[in-house]
Amino acid sequence: MPIADQIALLIEMQKLDSQIFKLKKELDGQPVLLAELEEGFKSKGVALKQKEDESKSLLVGKKQKEGDLQAKEDGIKKLQTQLYQVKTNKEYQAIEKEIASQRADISVIEEDILKMFDQIDVCAAEINKQKEILNQQRKTMDADKEKINSRTRELAASLEKLNTDRAALAQKVDKGVLAKYDRIINSKDGLAMVSVMGDACGACNINLPPQVINEIRLKQELIHCGSCARILYINEDDPGNAGDK
Ligand SMILES: [Zn+2]
Repeated sequence: MPIADQIALLIEMQKLDSQIFKLKKELDGQPVLLAELEEGFKSKGVALKQKEDESKSLLVGKKQKEGDLQAKEDGIKKLQTQLYQVKTNKEYQAIEKEIASQRADISVIEEDILKMFDQIDVCAAEINKQKEILNQQRKTMDADKEKINSRTRELAASLEKLNTDRAALAQKVDKGVLAKYDRIINSKDGLAMVSVMGDACGACNINLPPQVINEIRLKQELIHCGSCARILYINEDDPGNAGDK
């Protein structure tokens, strides 16, 4: 097959490959998007975790206070039995004074416990609120995930179609020419076929000598850019290149 026809096929293949590279890049980025969503959601659970920890330590503290309260009440009962056994008025008064002091301690502890009940209630309300917020955020995340997954399926289907088209086209191109093209496209970020822009390579912008431009026009062999090694062609649809071939 004449080189001119090969170049025409390669230009078609470049159109497919440009799409393939673009879609593949997006497809490769999908798992990253999913991971970012998960990570963002995880950080939103921190407030709930804090409140749950606070609630736990409040409950532990309350239990401790209730233990103290019980101990004080037992102590008073013991003192009250002692009251019946004392011999002197002085001893009686001393025990009564001790009982009064224990009762004062008890009312302080009881107040503390009441305060803790309030704090626990406030904490529980805050936990419920955070759970609701988190639930809402989970729904949002699930919806976003579904969008990403659906885009992933879309990309995979498009790529499959493009790859099928590419394989059909590849069969028509000479093996040696195709190998050169493939080597460039894989090493040059998905761009192997470049049109001449003015007198320069359309990819790397280096100026091309008139002799090279003439060789490109002749289409008797593949002409590579001396700087970026891509395959050069003249875009006949470009008004700047039409009419003077
Ligand atoms: Zn170049």
